[in-house]
Amino acid sequence: MVEKTAKELAQELLNPRKNGFFKVTDEEICLADQFNEGYKAFLDAAKTERESVDYAVEAAEKYGFVPFDPKHKYAAGDKVYYNNRGKAICLAVIGEEGCKNGVRIAAAHIDNPRIDLKPIPLYESSEMAYLKTHYYGGIKKYQWTAIPLAMHGVIVKRDGEVVKVCVGEEPGDPQFTITDILPHLGADQMQKTLGSAFTGEDLNILIGSRPVRDEEGAQLYKLNIMKILNEKYGIVEADLISAEITFVPAFKATDIGFDRSLVGAYGHDDRVCAYPALEAIFQCENPKQTVLTVLADKEEVGSMGNTGLNSEFMRYFIADLAQAEGEEPRHVISKSTCISADVTAAFDPHYAHAYEAQNSCYINGGLGVSKYTGARGKGGTNDASAEYVAKIRKTFDDAGVLWQIGELGKVDQGGGGTVAQYVANLNIDVIDVGVPVLSMHAPFEVVSKLDVYMAFKGFKAYFDEK
Ligand code: MN
Ligand code: MN
Repeated sequence: MVEKTAKELAQELLNPRKNGFFKVTDEEICLADQFNEGYKAFLDAAKTERESVDYAVEAAEKYGFVPFDPKHKYAAGDKVYYNNRGKAICLAVIGEEGCKNGVRIAAAHIDNPRIDLKPIPLYESSEMAYLKTHYYGGIKKYQWTAIPLAMHGVIVKRDGEVVKVCVGEEPGDPQFTITDILPHLGADQMQKTLGSAFTGEDLNILIGSRPVRDEEGAQLYKLNIMKILNEKYGIVEADLISAEITFVPAFKATDIGFDRSLVGAYGHDDRVCAYPALEAIFQCENPKQTVLTVLADKEEVGSMGNTGLNSEFMRYFIADLAQAEGEEPRHVISKSTCISADVTAAFDPHYAHAYEAQNSCYINGGLGVSKYTGARGKGGTNDASAEYVAKIRKTFDDAGVLWQIGELGKVDQGGGGTVAQYVANLNIDVIDVGVPVLSMHAPFEVVSKLDVYMAFKGFKAYFDEK
């Protein structure tokens, strides 16, 4: 018997990492580039959870989805959606075998780190008008100063009338900003650490500098802003108490790099998984098991609240699907599986010390799979079973999905969580799968077009598997 050479043995036995571009065809790169044109349009159209739900409903109806009626009996191929308070949504395509053997769920989140307003936000100082804020999610505060911001949200008047606001996105719109001290006078600030140089109370938004033109009266700068808001929206200051107003970066999504291989935008985390999960269910015809795309709110603040996945809204929806087919909900839920579709950190050579190179996800490496997330010895995480990891591996490999596996960073460097643990609490097999991101949670994040496309391909393969 002839001994195999080291090269032959290595080919047979080892699993070297290879950049995705060496593994895919030109045709596939073309498909990836096309897919990202749609993704960029989504990024610009939907910057908040409410706008993402509006987008999802409008798009879903074009694909034949109808509002879910728990009393109705559905047949294979029927498409339904459940809109939870305009901030989270479940979409389902009824499978050939219904839900008796469980459902397949792709769950992503549509809230992003941002700057929210306090309930009494408006004030003036040194003859300028400002809004007080309370940031939402994990941000590095210094990154949110001296950039253009846009205002999004709703104001609900006392009689229940909902006024939608969006200022700073259309050409010609005014925008807003949080100011920073000039370097010439920054000596004191420069002595501070990054974490302490900016406090939450410093993040006040500049919104005007002209007073009501009247020598008499107080707070003329604040008053002038209220006058403008009243003319535009018919609101008074007290209406801001019952409002959800958010300031987000006013940037548009754009190609990054001479080769246009990357997309830069606000809020890839986690719209970069939400969009592929939506497209995957839109293009899913006649699945074997009933499939669900769930777009959840509140992930960035721990999935709390009735639109987050630590609430029961998804469980109730599946229970309704089960009961409509005469199935016991807890049996259906226990047999269900889930892809927790959320971003992971892409290896960044400038901060290599924070990663463990062999167990990191890379730009253009494809869809990133994380068996677990968490911190301090796998604390606070779902840890997908080896059996379920094997199943997902096979699903992706069989469908030619480019994928990689990695951890969020070095052991004990930090950590993070996703909705996976809350889905797992329902006795569902779940694994974290998502797109690697550079500059995660910054006002401007970066992803690879190839990886975004592979998210779509991966979620679709999971839905389509017979
Ligand atoms: Mn996320
Ligand atoms: Mn996040």
